[in-house]
Amino acid sequence: MPLYVGIDLGGTNIKAGVVDETGRVLSSASVPTLADRGPDAVILTMAQLARDVAAQAGATIEKIAAIGVGTPGMIDFDHGIVLSAPNLKGWRDIPLVAALSKITGRLVVIENDANAAAMGECWLGAGKGGNVRELVMLTLGTGVGGGFVVDGKVVHGKFGMAAELGHLVLIMDGEPCPCGQLGCLERYCSASAVGIWATRAVESGQASSLASLRSKGQEITSKDVFDAAAAGDALAKQLVDTLAAQLATACVTLCRLFDPELVVIGGGMIAAGEALLSPIRREFTKRSWSAVKVRTKIVPAVLGSDAGFIGSAAVALHADRAAHTVA
Ligand SMILES: [Zn+2]
Repeated sequence: MPLYVGIDLGGTNIKAGVVDETGRVLSSASVPTLADRGPDAVILTMAQLARDVAAQAGATIEKIAAIGVGTPGMIDFDHGIVLSAPNLKGWRDIPLVAALSKITGRLVVIENDANAAAMGECWLGAGKGGNVRELVMLTLGTGVGGGFVVDGKVVHGKFGMAAELGHLVLIMDGEPCPCGQLGCLERYCSASAVGIWATRAVESGQASSLASLRSKGQEITSKDVFDAAAAGDALAKQLVDTLAAQLATACVTLCRLFDPELVVIGGGMIAAGEALLSPIRREFTKRSWSAVKVRTKIVPAVLGSDAGFIGSAAVALHADRAAHTVA
């Protein structure tokens, strides 16, 4: 049975694993990226990790049908080049596909890391067993990331920039974003943004238990806001309600664009669980079509940090099948 290696290249760690074509994960491992040593060293580390996980799965690298790599940054998909990856020192115009396939002798394909995570959730995570082919993933962390799976495939767009959901415009003439736009979703709904909005509210004099954190000189995090809301703090509850309404609004827009079966919410903020998901679902129902039954489900991501390598393996499987179809 064909085996695929998926690699999730992160700024801190590289995670990889072997997945077979039926979606059985046969092995996985993680090593530090050591990005300071530069792109060549990181590519050698990825090649060694691919060999190691193949061995753990009882195979050799020669038995691997294809390798998929989920990478941060901007990608030239046509040429297999990482154009820039701000979290990886020295990664500018790196021909990752050519370099890794030269070392390993395997078919190599690259994917944006957020798109890879969406593929992972579609295949073996939130969409597992459901034959899901239409899915949107929203990742709520320090920033907001996203990925679309349409008809079972990742959507790149003409210039490789599709699914930059953190920069979906939520509020016309809203908060300035470093990207140059105004009112981006990320300025309202990332974990960092929730902390910033809480800090602003407290500093404007609104009464809250969160004020004690500020008076101790601590930063307010999104976790602090959810904890305070759970303890009954009125301001924190209001912040969570606003966050849920904003995310629900984004979900309605995504449904009008893509009509997905699932909107999968992942990232660090999903640790809040139903305290985040329930109000999003409530607001989504309230704000969505009333004339048509809304069938899209809003669900949590389930693979955590494994989504990246599993989705990268899925991308490798698709590339391998496409190569054989063409041949
Ligand atoms: Zn932006």
